[in-house]
Amino acid sequence: MRKNIAIIGAGLGGLMLARVLHWYGLDATIYEAEASPTARRQGGLLDIHAETGQRAIAAAGLYDEFLALVRPGEDAKRVMDRNGTILFDYAGDPSSSRPEVDRGALRAMLMSSLPDGVIQWGRKVAALTPLGQERHAIDFADGTVATADLLVGADGAWSKVRPLLTDVKPVYSGTCFLEIGLAADDQHHAATIATIGTGTLMAVAPGKGILAHRNADGSMSGYVALNREEEWIGAIDFTEVRAGLGVVAEQFAGWASHLVRFITDSIAEPTPRPIYALPADLRWSPRPGVTLIGDAAHLMSPFAGEGANLAMLDGAELARWIAANPDSPSSVLATYEAALFARSSTIAHQSSRNLEVFFGAAAPASVVELFKPVRRQADNS
Ligand SMILES: Cc1cc2nc3c(=O)[nH]c(=O)nc-3n(C[C@H](O)[C@H](O)[C@H](O)COP(=O)(O)OP(=O)(O)OC[C@H]3O[C@@H](n4cnc5c(N)ncnc54)[C@H](O)[C@@H]3O)c2cc1C
Repeated sequence: MRKNIAIIGAGLGGLMLARVLHWYGLDATIYEAEASPTARRQGGLLDIHAETGQRAIAAAGLYDEFLALVRPGEDAKRVMDRNGTILFDYAGDPSSSRPEVDRGALRAMLMSSLPDGVIQWGRKVAALTPLGQERHAIDFADGTVATADLLVGADGAWSKVRPLLTDVKPVYSGTCFLEIGLAADDQHHAATIATIGTGTLMAVAPGKGILAHRNADGSMSGYVALNREEEWIGAIDFTEVRAGLGVVAEQFAGWASHLVRFITDSIAEPTPRPIYALPADLRWSPRPGVTLIGDAAHLMSPFAGEGANLAMLDGAELARWIAANPDSPSSVLATYEAALFARSSTIAHQSSRNLEVFFGAAAPASVVELFKPVRRQADNS
């Protein structure tokens, strides 16, 4: 008998899993806490890597639709020091093997590839109870209950499903991000936005940085990064936004004024985003009826640019294994998880090294060294 598959979370990982299962003719239900597809802004660009994200998209039968979303040249990169001196400038490669797409557009593509009713919005998981024989009861915050023969945690950093498999919790990396943004139509900021170039600007120094991207409409979005205690940034009072941003900008004293304006004049909601990570070598023993994909399985800092790519590959791979034995999905979990551990730990180590490259003592020279091979590859292609 076909098993009842419940996926917790409609991020890129959960959506990809449901899509590839559907591609194989298998049903699943996604339970998502958010009230609707538009409940949260899905900003930002993601570069989609050939070996991970693109592989998953191809397995989902969506490669041509994906190509239509690609924004050529957005992979341009510029590295600056605190004085605004350009140390590295790469114009981007229109035929890049890591094309950039808008995260919201990618998510919309996956959502529209699913039959109506697969995603149940506003179903926040509150508790999970093993029922024996691989089954679980899912209790939702709205008081409703569902059951699953296979429960897949695609519910991100603070997964409710993960504790069924391991007690390990994410740990603060020591770096906190704060969102920044500038509007396109503000002439006052034209010079500041122009310093970005066409893709991503990384102005970095030991312990801090400004990461800014020019959006298609000419506006800017990005992050301030600071190596500070989580409590320090959490204590900044942003009720008076300008005053709060002023406190952050004090950390950039001595920086070129047009760079500091990215912070002081930002119109983005100043939401602190402390960067957490799971141990790079996290493993758990397989348990019938439950597994994890994406950040729930291997939360890492964003500096390998692989989190979303891996989440999609995990989803596609798990679907492929389930399709190989749809009447007994638990029998494939050990094989799926062994491959998951191998690919994610290599990248998680790289990501944690890159965090040091970006904001360690050798920045910004270390960041220039990191990106030199990108330009060499493009020059040789
Ligand atoms: C600043 C920043 C920049 C990044 N840049 C990149 C990049 O350039 N490239 C890249 O590949 N990755 C990047 N990442 C990482 C990437 O965003 C994540 O790895 C990716 O989104 C993980 O996808 P996911 O589907 O596993 O989880 P998520 O996208 O976190 O989705 C989890 C879903 O589960 C839902 N959920 C959570 N709890 C519950 C619950 N109790 N009940 C029901 N639903 C629930 C959430 O609402 C959410 O919709 C970046 C991350 C950050 C923080």
